[in-house]
Amino acid sequence: MTPEAPTARERLREFLRQHPNPCVSFTGQQIADEIGVSRERVRQLMGGSYKSVTASDYLVALFVRHRPEAQLPKHLGGMSHKEIGKELGLGTQTIANAFRRLGLVSHSQLHLGVREQNRIACRRYYQSHKEQHNAWVGAWKEANPEKTREIDRTAKAKWMGKVLRMEHCIVCGAEFPWTQGREQGHRVAGRRIVCRPACGRKAARQERANHD
Ligand SMILES: [Zn+2]
Repeated sequence: MTPEAPTARERLREFLRQHPNPCVSFTGQQIADEIGVSRERVRQLMGGSYKSVTASDYLVALFVRHRPEAQLPKHLGGMSHKEIGKELGLGTQTIANAFRRLGLVSHSQLHLGVREQNRIACRRYYQSHKEQHNAWVGAWKEANPEKTREIDRTAKAKWMGKVLRMEHCIVCGAEFPWTQGREQGHRVAGRRIVCRPACGRKAARQERANHD
């Protein structure tokens, strides 16, 4: 395979994307001449009846050309087929068909789990409302100091309890969960890597004995 010239489908896509006036419609022969294939091939590429699909495909191609983000599903910051249809005065199914014929990624092919969709939606919301969001949170915290302390405490406890990895006690060798809290104690206060207080005391006695 060589890095070949664009295929007829690609040339057609490009042709549809490049024409600036959405009101113009073309005959199959005009398109065929334009991209250098037979009229039959154009009909094939457009799928089914060429005459009835041209205008809508053309409109959708133009719409997407000017607003590339619109081709993404709604939860990714794009538009639903229905919304695009409303803007163009076309039906939802017509848009879906045009998407397929133009080789745009079909919304139904973008498989994202609900969690991922929510995560993206939340992040997008936060990114676009950051200042407003933070101002609102700040005001709420000021008005609710008790609850704020409680929430902060819970959040801190949750953070401190997060297990980073398994560790081995330097005294008894037992494996135990190494939490964020232990990590902080180790880093900030130099606490030993021990599984329980008894092992800690034992280690301290050992260190004193070595020192003396
Ligand atoms: Zn131990």
